Amino acid sequence: MKKKIAVIGSGFGGLAAANRLAAVGHDVHLFDKRDKLGGRAYQYEIDNFKFDGGPTVITAPYIFDEIFQLAGKKREDYFELVPLDPFYRIFDEKGNHFDYRHQLNDMLTEIDKWHPADKKGYVKFVNQTKKLFEKLHPYTDQPFLSFSRMLKIMPDVIRFYGWQATYAFVSRYIKHPFLRRVFSFHPLLIGGNPFNTPALYTLIVQFEKEWGVHYAKGGTGKIVQALGQLLEDIGGTIHLNSEIKEIVIRDKKVTGIKWADDSYEPFDIVVSNGDVSFTYAHLIHKQYRKKWTDNRLNRLRYSNSLVVIYFGTRRRYLDSGLHHHNIIVNSRYKELLRDVFKRVTLPNDFSLYLHMPTITDSTIAPEGHESFYVLSLVPHMDAGVDWDSIGQEYRERVLMFLEDNYLPDLRENIVALHHIDPPHFQNTLNSYKGAAFATQPSLLQSAYFRPHSKSEEFENLYFVGAGTHPGAGVPAVLSSGKIAANLIDQS
Ligand SMILES: Cc1cc2nc3c(=O)[nH]c(=O)nc-3n(C[C@H](O)[C@H](O)[C@H](O)COP(=O)(O)OP(=O)(O)OC[C@H]3O[C@@H](n4cnc5c(N)ncnc54)[C@H](O)[C@@H]3O)c2cc1C
Repeated sequence: MKKKIAVIGSGFGGLAAANRLAAVGHDVHLFDKRDKLGGRAYQYEIDNFKFDGGPTVITAPYIFDEIFQLAGKKREDYFELVPLDPFYRIFDEKGNHFDYRHQLNDMLTEIDKWHPADKKGYVKFVNQTKKLFEKLHPYTDQPFLSFSRMLKIMPDVIRFYGWQATYAFVSRYIKHPFLRRVFSFHPLLIGGNPFNTPALYTLIVQFEKEWGVHYAKGGTGKIVQALGQLLEDIGGTIHLNSEIKEIVIRDKKVTGIKWADDSYEPFDIVVSNGDVSFTYAHLIHKQYRKKWTDNRLNRLRYSNSLVVIYFGTRRRYLDSGLHHHNIIVNSRYKELLRDVFKRVTLPNDFSLYLHMPTITDSTIAPEGHESFYVLSLVPHMDAGVDWDSIGQEYRERVLMFLEDNYLPDLRENIVALHHIDPPHFQNTLNSYKGAAFATQPSLLQSAYFRPHSKSEEFENLYFVGAGTHPGAGVPAVLSSGKIAANLIDQS
């Protein structure tokens, strides 16, 4: 039966859910408070540069393809994906790099340059992650509404050491200290500290191996645009600059949504792609919440936040030794991560990811110019940092580090500049504590233990996005959209 459905939020989770629901005939309305679609994948357009705001590593294209197929369309007609290899160029503190490649043999050649004795261990590591992947991948687009489903996966998680912290798991196979970092960094892509995120999330390693790492021509923003276009092509309606202030509940049922001016619209179903904790804390009156009380929300462990600096230069940096995706690891790696995740204090030094997309796609910058973004791990808002007063200085320090080590004369060549920080995550993206990736992917906050895709308390309320199963990252939030759409279909 055709239902009138509100999707709050146009991140990849919201876009996936909205398209899937519209494709099977529902009357779908997608709302976002911002002036453009995408959420964390918002694309900034500044002085003829296009800067992808967030996700840049695109894997598992089949998940996009499925959405377009369901709508009777072809993904290739909407956007083009280009495979990248190496996936990542990872620099140690002295500026030496490891190229993280797609094929096993290429990886072994790289390991040979660093520590040949680790080649055998690497093959074992890959085989072990493959076993975890084979067992767990089928659950990445299935809901975890009951504990019995959790019990189903636990024997394999235990048997294949999926419970062990990623860094410790990698260290079973790899001995070289830098290579241990190289093969254990993936939790950072989803807001987890490699030193305590369970190895079951090495699933991501296998996602990349199975389907590659891709770049969308025109940037990730092009994918966002395509999903918005698809939604309109199949009859969905997009409402931008539209911030929902309340999900209205009566008798444990959602009846509709409200805006700040108190206007109200009834809906049969509401899907929230807003951060789950923020949605519970700010969109649903306290008096109705028995499970996700303010206390309980506050007790969850939240991921790190980020400072991301987008900058365009009037010169190219093709001779810099940088690649498309660069990771710059700090010598104080473990301690820095402890500061960010556990002690929740701002370190003086940084661990960086540097994106240089113009090396693959010159169309996103004016001719002869280079486009970058640099991302630095910082703690969430509980650290109490006054970003308004130190933001500028912090940005300067990061740019100076890049100028001194990778990009000569950087600051005098910058012609476009913008940055986001923890207050942006909190106030613009409505993320609880300004966390960049919602709740941390710890064992006790995964699968059944993560806030559920279907509200445990209110009928007709569903969640998609990083705060629910399977978690943060583009493939995961797209899958959360599939899970919610299927649950709605079955309801
Ligand atoms: C800098 C950065 C880099 C990343 N890099 C990668 C990467 O390379 N690869 C990868 O796979 N993942 C990456 N991630 C993670 C990935 O981007 C996110 O997990 C994912 O995009 C989150 O999608 P989402 O569906 O949770 O929605 P979000 O992107 O969080 O969007 C939620 C939307 O809801 C809207 N909203 C919230 N509340 C309301 C309201 N009340 N009314 C109306 N609208 C509202 C917000 O405006 C926002 O647009 C990165 C994240 C960041 C921050």
